[in-house]
Amino acid sequence: MLTKLFLPLFLLTLSFSSCPPRQSVANSSVSENEPEALSPKHPKNIIFMVGDGMGIAQITAGLYANDNHLELERCPISGFHKSYSNNYLTTDSAAGATAFACGKKTYNGAIGVGPDKQPIPTILEQAEQHGLATGLVVTSTIAHATPAAFIAHVESRKQYEDIATFFPQSGIDLFIGGGSNHFNHRKDHRNLIQELKENGYVIKNIQNESIDVAEMNPLHPFGFFTGKKDPKTYRQGRRYLPTASQRAVEFLDKRSDEGFFMMIEGSQIDWGGHANDGKYIIEEMLDFDKAIGKVLDWAEKDGETLVVITADHETGGFAILPSSKMNKLKTKFVTDYHTPVLIPVFAFGPGAEQFSGIYENTAIYDKMVNSFGW
Ligand code: MG
Ligand code: ZN
Repeated sequence: MLTKLFLPLFLLTLSFSSCPPRQSVANSSVSENEPEALSPKHPKNIIFMVGDGMGIAQITAGLYANDNHLELERCPISGFHKSYSNNYLTTDSAAGATAFACGKKTYNGAIGVGPDKQPIPTILEQAEQHGLATGLVVTSTIAHATPAAFIAHVESRKQYEDIATFFPQSGIDLFIGGGSNHFNHRKDHRNLIQELKENGYVIKNIQNESIDVAEMNPLHPFGFFTGKKDPKTYRQGRRYLPTASQRAVEFLDKRSDEGFFMMIEGSQIDWGGHANDGKYIIEEMLDFDKAIGKVLDWAEKDGETLVVITADHETGGFAILPSSKMNKLKTKFVTDYHTPVLIPVFAFGPGAEQFSGIYENTAIYDKMVNSFGW
């Protein structure tokens, strides 16, 4: 079977030198003295799904615009997180994603660094150190705040070209998203796509759903670019998220025997909120929900996978008006920015019970790390 030992040796050296070596997952969780470690409370895999800007009203709008059905309803456990950041009650996506990725509240705009601007190891980097396969699948650019906070450490989310430099040395097994220009049309003239290839990556450009699973040989790490800049909106014809999510899970499952960690983002629910466009929100919400359905189908069969679904914050102060009817919604906004309301969290699979209740956004990191038994 395949293991992460197929990675170039220097990647392993790099990741182990940045942090004290840890006991391998195999040694810590499959000990004869700790039979409970084999219980389903410790999932082998975690799939963390973020609907950017997806508050209760966004979910409700998707539900009632879709004839009272969401795949999300299959999650047996739900809770709420407090999304505020280190310096504002209303967070941005960078501080929000850093809270999930690093377990630390930081300032708005921060990517994988604390209030002191020092790097904090991310759950994706920790997964790499434990020999797990890792992945990011998004409908924004891959250097955008939410995915960036899992892989990069920079002072500002606007440093897209700096964020991109973290990919070739990250050890990430699969990434799918837009923004290839940040990799090969750069001020410093580096060609990061070439550097990725030199590090063993197979890099492809894809449109829509055309991810050729037969080409996804798990001997290689993969990167799929879905646009030079931002990927299209659903309305413009973007359709890859559900298929890409499913293919990514299948690929990562084959890529390491130790398990995998991946983050999937429905990035543009937020953009519908910023645009004060209720239809945009609903289209992106339902696309994200289809991806949720694919992931839950796989996790249900697998039985060893924890799926956690949440948002970083709400966007728009989105409201559904009393004159609305099923499948005919009337909506309104109070802002074109984010709001600080409590954010729902949904969980499915082994370890899901931990996600009921009300807790800080940083506790989601703690609960995921606890689930892995690290
Ligand atoms: Mg985002
Ligand atoms: Zn936003």
